[in-house]
Amino acid sequence: MQFTNSWQQELTGFYTALDPTPLAGGRLFYHNAALAKEMGLDDALFQGSGHGVWSGREMLPGMSPLAQVYSGHQFGVWAGQLGDGRGILLGEQQLANGRKLDWHLKGAGLTPYSRMGDGRAVIRSSVREFLASEALHHLGIPTTRALALAIGDEPVLRETQECGAMLMRIAESHLRFGHFEHFYYGGEQDKVRMLADYAIRHHWPHLQDEADRYLLWFTDIVKRTAGLIALWQSVGFAHGVMNTDNMSILGLTLDYGPYGFLDDYQPGYICNHSDYQGRYAFENQPMIGLWNLNRLAHALSGLMTTEQLKQALSHYESELMRVWGEKMRAKLGLLTAESNDNTILTGLLALMTAERSDYTLTFRMLSETQQDETRSPLRDEFIDRAAFDGWYSDYRQRLLRDQASDEQRQTVMKAANPALVLRNYLAQQVIEEVEKGETAALEKLHNALQQPYSDAAVSAELRQRPPEWGKTLEVSCSS
Ligand code: AMP
Ligand code: MG
Repeated sequence: MQFTNSWQQELTGFYTALDPTPLAGGRLFYHNAALAKEMGLDDALFQGSGHGVWSGREMLPGMSPLAQVYSGHQFGVWAGQLGDGRGILLGEQQLANGRKLDWHLKGAGLTPYSRMGDGRAVIRSSVREFLASEALHHLGIPTTRALALAIGDEPVLRETQECGAMLMRIAESHLRFGHFEHFYYGGEQDKVRMLADYAIRHHWPHLQDEADRYLLWFTDIVKRTAGLIALWQSVGFAHGVMNTDNMSILGLTLDYGPYGFLDDYQPGYICNHSDYQGRYAFENQPMIGLWNLNRLAHALSGLMTTEQLKQALSHYESELMRVWGEKMRAKLGLLTAESNDNTILTGLLALMTAERSDYTLTFRMLSETQQDETRSPLRDEFIDRAAFDGWYSDYRQRLLRDQASDEQRQTVMKAANPALVLRNYLAQQVIEEVEKGETAALEKLHNALQQPYSDAAVSAELRQRPPEWGKTLEVSCSS
């Protein structure tokens, strides 16, 4: 395994070099064996209480740790300098295929960018990030990954006293919209260009020799962001803190905090208890994605003309609708396209809103539809049967026009309608077990989340409707 440090070598002035502060009593608690294998890692790193790298005690050869500086717009307001306040980039693993992977230790102690924070992460937030990033990855949604979770015996004060933990986060890059904003608003135009050139060199190498490479690059960022948010909407994922410092240039889901998957279908769902205005409500995410891209466009205004920036941004809505449309069509099992298909979708969503239907269960059950049966597997789920029957009759007629078999359609639907998403209450149950030192529940849920579309892999227990307490769990930014 070889580490390089391109950020350190190529971007002087964009970071502070420093070591993690080891977590007292820190030991490896759990690791992602499948990801470790994909990354070609040696089993010895994970044996016993694990290598010291997981709790910030030791580095692997070639690592050269640093904290990155960035800024951002938080809740619509310019927040000035932020930066890695509790995360440290240890190094970049060089893969045989030329790709590289950041090893980023979250909860690694104070940095010059910690502001009022303590530089630590707790079990609760680390388990939530571990599970959610793996859940999204296996749902087919671009995201940072979680390699390992270390736990210590260091008390960390949040709303109550909690236990310190560290998460090893893996990503092709941690480049954020906020990195560009930082240097733009700091009046360092040359550094904005350096950063753009760095991004293109490492992550869009095929654009390096293009005359209009900045335009092509920014257009791709616009499309990736649009595609990402379309995928979030399709599975009912709310990020919760879409500040520009939490937006990835690569279009990855980044910085899991008070996220939530929809239980009941409520378009106005606000997962972040601290989001009083509902800025980051589920249904606002597409609009916020564009708002954030506009902030990035502003930061890149020295690299492109206004016309070029507008041209790139103009792809946002069409790309978002394209990806979302494709996913929703698969969720409904519509194999061909008809001009009226949108009324089928909006009709179902309106019924689901009125009855607060469970988003995941409703679509998974719909996947069992048999087109020759006049009775739907979903019928008993609805109180207003007359309204449902009206919708179902149109839906069934529509399915019949596709002239496909139930089997063909169900295969498509089951690959688009997960049997399992990471509901808040499932994460909470695991957190309580991990806090007692038990790994079994974490392992069980992690395993199931790796096959969310499989009937066989997802037990009946994990598919249940959330208990009432599980729908009202309060999750805020303080993690
Ligand atoms: P977030 O919204 O969680 O992504 O964090 C926003 C900013 O606050 C980032 O600059 C983080 O590094 C910083 N931050 C969050 N939690 C802590 C903490 N416990 N200690 C130091 N900095 C933190
Ligand atoms: Mg953040």
